[in-house]
Amino acid sequence: MKHFLDLRLSEFKEWLTRHGQPCFRADQVGHWVCNAPGVPFEQMSDVPKALRTRLAEDFFIWSMRTVAHRTSADGSEKLLLQTADGEHIECVLLRDDKGSRTACISTQVGCAMGCVFCASGLDGLVRNLTAGEIFEELLQLRRLLGPEERLSHIVVMGMGEPLANLERLLQALNRATRRDGLRISARRVTISTVGLPAGIRRLADRGVSYHLAVSLHAPDDELRSRIVPMNEKAGLGAILEAADYYFEKTGRRVTYEYVLLADVNDRPNHAAALADLLRGRNALVNLIPFNPIQGLPYRTPHRDDVRQFAAILDSAGIQVTIRHRKGDTIDAACGQLRRIRSQTPNLPVVQETT
Ligand code: SAH
Repeated sequence: MKHFLDLRLSEFKEWLTRHGQPCFRADQVGHWVCNAPGVPFEQMSDVPKALRTRLAEDFFIWSMRTVAHRTSADGSEKLLLQTADGEHIECVLLRDDKGSRTACISTQVGCAMGCVFCASGLDGLVRNLTAGEIFEELLQLRRLLGPEERLSHIVVMGMGEPLANLERLLQALNRATRRDGLRISARRVTISTVGLPAGIRRLADRGVSYHLAVSLHAPDDELRSRIVPMNEKAGLGAILEAADYYFEKTGRRVTYEYVLLADVNDRPNHAAALADLLRGRNALVNLIPFNPIQGLPYRTPHRDDVRQFAAILDSAGIQVTIRHRKGDTIDAACGQLRRIRSQTPNLPVVQETT
């Protein structure tokens, strides 16, 4: 038995041909899997009975089960999913009042990057997710939508470093944007990276027009290496060059994320240095006030400091937005729920969905 969501379209078409079936069945089955999540192969009523039976013999669709489901007052919902091998990953559905429904997904169990303020990497990397598992996160979140809602955006900002698991991520995103998949526009997909120059270039060369967000968090190498240890290897210069290359190749403006940690990287001199670094680039800075994590020594900056930081960038001609925090009450920052679960194995399931 194989995870159906792990199959590439070409592999599924070969499988269909081997079983004497026309290729258009791929669209039919894909439509059921994506638009009626939860329906087993046996109930795909416009698919011939013999084919349904064959599919059910060879494939399974669901590989993960929901072990916790939290809903926040702002409409965000977070799932803690257990993989077949007993690991835990998180994904979040974000709702806004303009009708956007955004899936925030993970690409790895844990993370090897070691950013000092992030819960995902505190215990290191366990393993990469498969393409099927990554896509399944989207389906699990899609199941939470009401009949009038549809998934409109994807942000790859959950646990893990997406560019360290790039091929599997691209396979999952390919299905998400395809006609037999979720039909989400590639322009509404954002990949957030810690900044791996080789990975950014590889993505640029793939000819996909996903939106790239680079987690900068500091305006110089000395400070950045303290906050984002993997910076020692890459270095800001190489990261910015790779991001410039991404812009040249795709024409898509790059976003720079900047988590504000009180008194660490949120001072006016940091804002001025950041403006110098990015001046002349077609860039957007997204300021993210630190989302507190139990046991870590960092603090959320004061609102006035956040505003001042933004004002300094703005007056230097750098485009800037402040990310409003969503899902605070559901521990929405990456990796928090998984950590809580590993420390309290009897974490209550607020709402079981499977
Ligand atoms: N590995 C990718 C995806 C990480 S999550 C990356 O580094 O970009 C997406 C964003 O959330 C990153 O910018 C990350 O630095 C940030 N983040 C992680 N923990 C956070 C926290 N506790 N508060 C605020 N932002 C956080």
